[in-house]
Amino acid sequence: MRIAALGFHHETNTFQSVKTDYDAFVNYEFLRGAEIAEQHATANSTLSGYFQGAIKYEFELVPLLFTFTGPTGTITKNAFDRITAEMIALLEEKGPWDGVLLAQHGAAVSENFPDMDGEVANLVRGIVGSNVPVVMTLDLHSNITQKQVTNTDAIVAFRTNPHLDPVERAIEASDILIKTIKGEIKPVQRLVQVPMIINIVKQPTSFGPMLDIVNDVNEVIKKPGVLSASCGQGFPYADVEHMGVSFLVVTDDDIEMADHLANWLAKRAWNRRSDLQNDSTSMEDSITRAMNAPTTGSPTVIMDVGDNVGGGGTADSTHLLAEAIKQGLKGERSLLMSLFDSTAVQTCIDSGVGSTVSIKVGAGTDQLHGEPIEVTGYVRAITDGRFEEPTPIHGGHRFFDYGPSVALITKEGYMLVLHTMRGIGNMTRQQYYSIGIDPQHYKVVICKGTVSPRAAYEPIAREIIMSNTPGVTSADMSSFSYKHRRKPLYPFEEETKFD
Ligand SMILES: [Zn+2]
Repeated sequence: MRIAALGFHHETNTFQSVKTDYDAFVNYEFLRGAEIAEQHATANSTLSGYFQGAIKYEFELVPLLFTFTGPTGTITKNAFDRITAEMIALLEEKGPWDGVLLAQHGAAVSENFPDMDGEVANLVRGIVGSNVPVVMTLDLHSNITQKQVTNTDAIVAFRTNPHLDPVERAIEASDILIKTIKGEIKPVQRLVQVPMIINIVKQPTSFGPMLDIVNDVNEVIKKPGVLSASCGQGFPYADVEHMGVSFLVVTDDDIEMADHLANWLAKRAWNRRSDLQNDSTSMEDSITRAMNAPTTGSPTVIMDVGDNVGGGGTADSTHLLAEAIKQGLKGERSLLMSLFDSTAVQTCIDSGVGSTVSIKVGAGTDQLHGEPIEVTGYVRAITDGRFEEPTPIHGGHRFFDYGPSVALITKEGYMLVLHTMRGIGNMTRQQYYSIGIDPQHYKVVICKGTVSPRAAYEPIAREIIMSNTPGVTSADMSSFSYKHRRKPLYPFEEETKFD
């Protein structure tokens, strides 16, 4: 059996001013054919799971194209058209196929298609026809649509956040695909969209109401005849009509059971809606609490929710840095954080290791993420910004490139790690180990994220504080002006009904 694998993977924050063009994909990750195996066969990603599925279920996996870039603004029409044209050409040239495995995100928005993932599935279906099964994996943050469902035989979404299960889900998707090709099963799927959002600070799956939701999904999966069940948590920073929570159940040729179970999951989540909203700590209280924490050899980790790089943050917010200076936090190893600032890095590189510089750092992208902060500091180290994380972390990435990077110790005793690329947040401690820093030895660590840094920082944190900072990924949803979301939608419209 010959199975094509393709992925055009993006989580789109439509509130971000920086559009995502073709070069953004090329400069981050744009892989074809054998390059995909080189980067993913030993990673912990969806593609890695497809390679493992090929071994387990004995099929020939033909990786065609996989591209991905960090969460940024709306994908340009040009990027969408060029990338999908190449995907389609490869599918046509290298076929025929027994099946297709797609590795999509589910919250991608292009200028021409608000439901970009649905359109990718539609284009693929158009090439291979209705007799060739197509199975698609999605991120847990997907805004799942009927178009995605109509153009696939089955969809399987991640079930953990941080996303530690892409490999398992991809193997599950491979299993469904192969059994479908062999005629052993006939998947049918039912989607129920719930008129609500889950606030970003309530999206971790290891505790709280989201754990209850995942437990419900796992309960459904155990039932005979159920092939898969997924919750799309939704990605609230994509201003599109289909933004929100959804449930999808895939059964073996029993649409009534799929319908019943998807509705059961949806109702149970709806009843928990008030517990799934923003309860994060104010910026001022976050710093005060962290400053007053005992110095025990494990840091207080403050999540900079408004600059969640994994959700489209700019990686250069200075709001919490300014607040720490204002409240007088100081002392050796009192604070550790990273900032995207190419100009500051260049100044430090020009001055050299061992020099002292006075520079402005951060807040270079837009007006939402604070003011550039004047610091005087000692240039401790300079690296090329490349590092590797061999253990499973959020999303299963292995190879990272943050561009030329500098470790700068300020006169307050803060360690600022400055990068020339935005990267994808603070999701691995290797980011700091690779420049000679052990985050465990700091009093306060600021992470630009909400959930994705947890796999890296929960093991060393004495406490994790969700900080209600301003920014393009703020937990305060009233700070965004939506034009396209559906109405009513809870909690925006308190009186929203769901029957
Ligand atoms: Zn996600």
